[in-house]
Amino acid sequence: MAKTRPYLFYDVTLTICSTCYRKLEGKTVFQDDKVFLLKRCPDHGSERVLIADDIDYYRRCREIFIKPPEMPLVYNTPVKWGCPYDCGLCTDHEQHSCLTLVEICDYCNLRCPVCYAESGPERRQFRTLAQVEKMLDAVVRNEGHPDVVQLSGGEPTVHPNFFEIVEMAKARPIKHLMVNTNGVRIAQEEDFVKRLAEVKEDFEVYLQFDSFELEPLMQLRGADLRRIREQAIERLNRYNISTNLVVTLKKGLNDHEIGKTIDYALQQPCVRGVTFQPIQDAGRIDRVGTGPLVGSAEQSEAAGTVQQWGAPLLPDLGRSGNSDTRNHPTNGDRDFNPVTDRLTLTEVRRKILEQTNVFKPEDVIPVPCHPDSLAMAYALKQNGKVIPLTSMIPPEVLINGAANTILYEQEPVVREGLFKLFATNHSPRSQAGTLRELLCCLPRVFVPDSITYENIFRVIVMQFIDAHSFDVRSVKKTCVHIVHPDGRLIPFDTYNLFYRDPLEQTRLVRLRRQAEAVLDARLWSSRSSQAITGV
Ligand code: SF4
Ligand code: SF4
Ligand SMILES: [Zn+2]
Repeated sequence: MAKTRPYLFYDVTLTICSTCYRKLEGKTVFQDDKVFLLKRCPDHGSERVLIADDIDYYRRCREIFIKPPEMPLVYNTPVKWGCPYDCGLCTDHEQHSCLTLVEICDYCNLRCPVCYAESGPERRQFRTLAQVEKMLDAVVRNEGHPDVVQLSGGEPTVHPNFFEIVEMAKARPIKHLMVNTNGVRIAQEEDFVKRLAEVKEDFEVYLQFDSFELEPLMQLRGADLRRIREQAIERLNRYNISTNLVVTLKKGLNDHEIGKTIDYALQQPCVRGVTFQPIQDAGRIDRVGTGPLVGSAEQSEAAGTVQQWGAPLLPDLGRSGNSDTRNHPTNGDRDFNPVTDRLTLTEVRRKILEQTNVFKPEDVIPVPCHPDSLAMAYALKQNGKVIPLTSMIPPEVLINGAANTILYEQEPVVREGLFKLFATNHSPRSQAGTLRELLCCLPRVFVPDSITYENIFRVIVMQFIDAHSFDVRSVKKTCVHIVHPDGRLIPFDTYNLFYRDPLEQTRLVRLRRQAEAVLDARLWSSRSSQAITGV
């Protein structure tokens, strides 16, 4: 009898080597109820990467939750070297920008071991207003009316012109503005929060909130931020500023706190949702050996930043002695096992279901614009009760009726579905049909008058693609993009692997040359065969 392989072969994948980043062909296979990516680099050997631990859910993402891709108004780069060397957005990208990050500084009052931007107190670079304006204009140029723009950093709240930048963003046709923050300034400066409250319309704080415990905070952030988090939430509640908690999850470190975080979030009037981001293998540790940890003045200039030297704006925050994180374990890839240490979207989804009573499996569904990377669930908070909503909307409405964006509730058919749901079950008096658009976090929801913005609660799992899990098919669909200082819009995942700071020179140039050599060789061989055959 013929021997069989120990897996089911599902697909061919175009991936990269996680050591040298060259492009490789790989295989997606199903084995032991899990999905793995298999690849082999001629120089660095084989890799077997866990992609998902739920084959059915994975197949639903690949085969059911798919839609025609939505295009931006303009693309920014031609296809020359092939994906992912042409970002972007190049004309081959398969999704517009649902969420765009505008990084306004490299400076941060923390120096987290897991920071993908390698920010810290030593990086005293703040983009000028003119540079930020150019970046905001780039998003509007591409999108017309951008869905969600997130001011990010570094720590954006310590930018000396922070409120001018907020005003600048609000003066543009951006539907929803967010500020991605570690919450230190919010916790420490009441006047700052008062000013935030003045701009809170169409605005949301995207608040880092990883753990209630010391050890995970030390490992992820290098500082005991427990008190800071409490104070920040207290203030945001007091001023009722819409807030989304953002949890960086590491397997075995803080993934037991998922349910506790959701329960806590549901108790906070200002909190509209929680986003779980399983840790990816990108960050300051990932860069060891690929270039300087902190960019030189020349590199900063090239990246379009200005330097403003001075003392850190905020005091030290309970770091153990200093900002050196070497005493704390990190998520570095030196002892990282891609088979056992990866925390995948499907595992996070399962833990949500295990650790809370709020959601059922049919509530936590793939987001059609990028189902590999995004899962979402909605609930309604009302009179101390939490009612999950997603499973109550027919799936065909969610898949077929909605535009291809994270903000798919803006589609009339989904809006109508939600309205009916509210009207029938929870708000009969609003049957007359007066809908009031109330801004929510990400995404927005249209709800009847009697339901306020504060009733909406949303859980998102957002998994980024790293060098281990890299898949050209998936990365082409990413809808979370970063504005490069030169005006290109680059997928978050490829930005951190190939385009951030010096990487385009230290890593990408070599790979592009290799791609050119392959193209030249193909051209030469096709010309030779033409010469031989006369065709
Ligand atoms: S990730 Fe998108 S923008 Fe970048 S090269 Fe690939 S298709 Fe083009
Ligand atoms: S707070 Fe954010 S920007 Fe600052 S070091 Fe940590 S991850 Fe990086
Ligand atoms: Zn390699």
